[in-house]
Amino acid sequence: MTSTTAFNTSQSEQIFSTAKQLMPGGVNSPVRAFNSVGGQPIVFDKVQGSHAWDIDGNEYIDYVGTWGPAICGHAHPEVIQTLHETLEKGTSFGTPSVQENILAEMVINAVPSIEMVRFVNSGTEACMSALRMMRAYTGRDKIVKFQGNYHGHADMLLVQAGSGVATLGLPDSPGVPKSATSSTLAAPYNDLEAVKKLFEEHGNDIAGIMVEPVVGNSGFIAPDAGFLEGLREITQEYGALLAFDEVMTGFRIAYGGAQEKFGVTPDVTTLGKIIGGGLPVGAFGARKDIMEMVAPAGPMYQSGTLSGNPLAMTAGIKTLEILQRPGVYEQLDRMTKKLTNGLKEIADKHGHATHMGQISAMFGVFFTDRSVHNFEDAKTSDLDKFARYHRGMLERGIYLAPAQFEAAFMSLAHTDEDINKTLNAADEVMASL
Ligand SMILES: *Cc1c(COP(=O)(O)O)cnc(C)c1O
Repeated sequence: MTSTTAFNTSQSEQIFSTAKQLMPGGVNSPVRAFNSVGGQPIVFDKVQGSHAWDIDGNEYIDYVGTWGPAICGHAHPEVIQTLHETLEKGTSFGTPSVQENILAEMVINAVPSIEMVRFVNSGTEACMSALRMMRAYTGRDKIVKFQGNYHGHADMLLVQAGSGVATLGLPDSPGVPKSATSSTLAAPYNDLEAVKKLFEEHGNDIAGIMVEPVVGNSGFIAPDAGFLEGLREITQEYGALLAFDEVMTGFRIAYGGAQEKFGVTPDVTTLGKIIGGGLPVGAFGARKDIMEMVAPAGPMYQSGTLSGNPLAMTAGIKTLEILQRPGVYEQLDRMTKKLTNGLKEIADKHGHATHMGQISAMFGVFFTDRSVHNFEDAKTSDLDKFARYHRGMLERGIYLAPAQFEAAFMSLAHTDEDINKTLNAADEVMASL
């Protein structure tokens, strides 16, 4: 679509107005409601490759990719085919399965810090379980996290948690008891001095640090040189654990995640999104001596009725197989660079101050004249301008995350033609902002 006059979303509007009677805010995850960009959310009917079709028949080039999982493109034919084969055997076993072993081995072989893994059903579960394990292993209660980093919606991690929470203006959610977050310490991202101070004061009580090694949940923010290394040193000095939350970055910014990309190996890693190939999965993993804290090998309780679900494992296995093929990450990097370099040129041409960031298949655009290193910098973005940009792109068939504080995602299915269309749309929209 290049013309905006044909943009009709009447069926989306109708379905969403019904949804609002049935589910809080009409959605099952807040950021989907478009509250921070205004207007109505688009109701998708079908997704395939790099494209999505809404219920009114509008077609979009999609840079949300169901919020990260769709790195091979939506509904990849090989993933769908293998899902059909597993489906014939049933939808859930509730016993050990071969599929679990295969995906576990793939994850262990890929991610440097993981010698053993436990599968769960979401990133939220992965992070809350990893945190329990860190506390169980160290016998300490305090945890350090970073402002604007999101680790799911478990009580003790819902402190200065970025994206959805930031967009909604809920700095701390009602219903989270003070006691649940009283052991959670928050520092500004990329600020090693602040982390050092926290450790000087509380070092012997800190179980560990949980960090997004590359931030996606305050928009895209890269770690400054030495930041991740610094966290590694501080945690080692105090006998605390370092956890990388790679729910978003795992298998996205490199096959082995941020820890492979930056050569910094944490003690604990959480995963999600891509490893489920579009089905609900999360995972946490670590060295054997840490993982053997987890029941029934050890005393730390954690469980899940549908954990290790054969369909989810199958989608994950095929997705990782595709990601192992030669040239995959080079292609993702090349396409993402082509898009972000193009966007930067267009923004400059039309006189819009932007901060553009990109690592491999993850990227982001802030409408600010600041260089963005933390959530405070991110918040200087012109949110009204972002909302108009988002709307203009949407009307031209480009589907971007409906919030400034979200990262964007490239997939293997995106073509040069997709990128060119996106840049043409951006050129029109930026001229009108
Ligand atoms: C998405 C995300 C989560 C939460 O995962 P869910 O599957 O939505 O519960 C946790 N951490 C990070 C870094 C994420 O991007």
